[in-house]
Amino acid sequence: MNRARLIVMNSALGPLDYRVPQGMNVEPGSVVVAPLGPRQLIGVVWERERLPAGEVGDNRLRNLLHVYDIPPIAAPLRRLVEWTADYYLSPLAAVLRMALPSSGALEGARSVTEYRATGQVPDRLTPQRAQALERIGERQGLVSELAILGGVSDGVIRGLVKGGAIEAVEVRIDDPYPAPDPDHAPPALDETQADAAAELREAVDAREFAPWLLDGVTGSGKTEVYFEAIAEAIRRGRQTLVLLPEIALTEPFLKRFAARFGCEPVAWHSGLRQSQRRRAWRAIASGEARVTVGARSALFLPYRDLGLIVVDEAHEASFKQEDGVQYHARDVAVMRAKLEEIPVILASATPAIETRHMAEIGTYKELKLPARYGGARLPDMAALDLLQDPPERGRWLAPKLVDALEQNLANGEQSLLFLNRRGYAPLTLCRRCGYRFQCPNCTAWMVEHRFTRRLACHHCGHMMPAPETCPECKEEDALVACGPGVERIADEVALLFPDARTAIVTSDTIWSPVKAAEFVARMEAGEIDIVIGTQLVTKGYHFPNLTLVGVVDADLGLAGGDLRAAERTFQQIQQVSGRAGRGDKHGRVLVQTHDPNAAVLRALVSGDAEGFYAAETEARRLAAMPPFGRLAAIIVSSENQAEANEVARMIGRAAPAHENMAVFGPAPAPLAMLRGRHRFRLLVHAHRAVPVQDIIRDWLGGLHWKNSTRVTVDVDPYSFL
Ligand SMILES: [Zn+2]
Ligand SMILES: [Zn+2]
Repeated sequence: MNRARLIVMNSALGPLDYRVPQGMNVEPGSVVVAPLGPRQLIGVVWERERLPAGEVGDNRLRNLLHVYDIPPIAAPLRRLVEWTADYYLSPLAAVLRMALPSSGALEGARSVTEYRATGQVPDRLTPQRAQALERIGERQGLVSELAILGGVSDGVIRGLVKGGAIEAVEVRIDDPYPAPDPDHAPPALDETQADAAAELREAVDAREFAPWLLDGVTGSGKTEVYFEAIAEAIRRGRQTLVLLPEIALTEPFLKRFAARFGCEPVAWHSGLRQSQRRRAWRAIASGEARVTVGARSALFLPYRDLGLIVVDEAHEASFKQEDGVQYHARDVAVMRAKLEEIPVILASATPAIETRHMAEIGTYKELKLPARYGGARLPDMAALDLLQDPPERGRWLAPKLVDALEQNLANGEQSLLFLNRRGYAPLTLCRRCGYRFQCPNCTAWMVEHRFTRRLACHHCGHMMPAPETCPECKEEDALVACGPGVERIADEVALLFPDARTAIVTSDTIWSPVKAAEFVARMEAGEIDIVIGTQLVTKGYHFPNLTLVGVVDADLGLAGGDLRAAERTFQQIQQVSGRAGRGDKHGRVLVQTHDPNAAVLRALVSGDAEGFYAAETEARRLAAMPPFGRLAAIIVSSENQAEANEVARMIGRAAPAHENMAVFGPAPAPLAMLRGRHRFRLLVHAHRAVPVQDIIRDWLGGLHWKNSTRVTVDVDPYSFL
């Protein structure tokens, strides 16, 4: 009798046993199809002894239906799935799903039918059809993908296919990827860089677990250095994974990589078409994809022979996933490296306090690159006190910053204004009755977006047309915008410098790698004088002619006041400053603030990063906050406020007493309503050594609530909203 125990792709189900029919061969990691009632489910065979399940008699077992012809999920990845599920208190199936491709890629089809415009105008050109063709342009994809691009239903696309305006094309997904050449264009490294590169090359050769912190100021050549480690992995025939925090950074990275290695690496992110995803997944699983660059979801893919992981901009909070499995990709990357027994490089100009601490206690090896590449100097930084030197009424840029912009324009150099706020204004209110526009689904103001003439909620995406009259008192023209967003700064710039060519860079304007590439090309061609952007412009980009950075509101990030507010502000301003003066020309950074004496600003202006980090680290140590203590948040939500409150209080009452652990709350979350659900939070704070996950599992496992209430646990939370 041959049995197999499966994790099936349904988070609500535990492990299930099946019979392996004669003639079928499975092993742990095999991806199979199993019957469940009248349905069929995909599952992965697992080691029985690692998955306790109720024993089912042989006679009640059903046969497995099919085993896919793909390599089994390897043991190190199986252990990673277990570790992630255990650490982040998530179902195994939810983690495992991130390792598997769509069923199409499992089937092994060699081609996908995509569609593209033929250039023919359909006989009947309805406004919808015209819109779809206009938006799709020259892109191609599945019917469903084109429907999304065109902002129309699948039916409209099919109608266009029938009318001859869109045609089918077969896309082969087994075409090989070009192989990167480690000796294509090796860089000229200075001595420090060459030493660092040599250490990393040795680490790749040694093929054992080794976490590295590659700590270099912006523009110090971190990428060039870790590229040498990648070159070594390529020479050894092993795969490399490079994780980036934002999909918008992919495009510039692909270009840099191609310049060094002669071709682009394999990209993995949510912007891929289905055919591209399938092709990439298969190349990754077969080992053909030598180097993969991707967003955090690339971390769980089944690399056949992984030899190196690089986490670039490793301090970025966007490595933390905030829904589904709430994992931190930086931390899971280190765990994957450990299980695969390979080196992992965390690269950053502003390493997180957690990472610095690991280097200080010697768990991570540290490589420092203190100088800027090619002799470029770090920019000069100065604070502009908004109380001493205020902007004109109704304006947001202080006179000194305006002068600096003017000077830069005259010199033909580029400038960047940084404000981490999308849209035109964060709040709209009625001058007459004080009415404020709030999202009906969230505890949040509606943000005015003037380009699209709408108010939008940045939490749930709720939109409404910008109204002419106050909905409360019906007064006309009484609505005023409060505070600036990037669009409002762009207006001010247009007023001050009508001839300057500007670009707004936010997730509203740069929503795909293609858009990012367009922006980079325009910057490089000198077609933009002043960029106004959110945190999207703070990292990765390298524009030699950009010599002035203005931080519009340095106080913004400190307002939230959570554990990492000062650290995040420091990192963000340091990163955005790093965009200035990366070429031969010297850079300058002006930081607008109401509180130039705040510790974080003094540290930035005096360049005393070490002093700042030492003080922050000490404060964390005294408060036993991460990395010296542990936090976990329990979030209870329901559409029914009373019900959410009740469950939260029940959880609070059942909190186990444990030495060295305290439970705070429940209290209404700062974001008390989100997407129509009322939210309450509890916060668990414990000493480093307390097994928080086990305690929470036992604690919540003994309690029951209705399905209409959702309880999620966020281990090592980054968001406190
Ligand atoms: Zn009003
Ligand atoms: Zn909302």
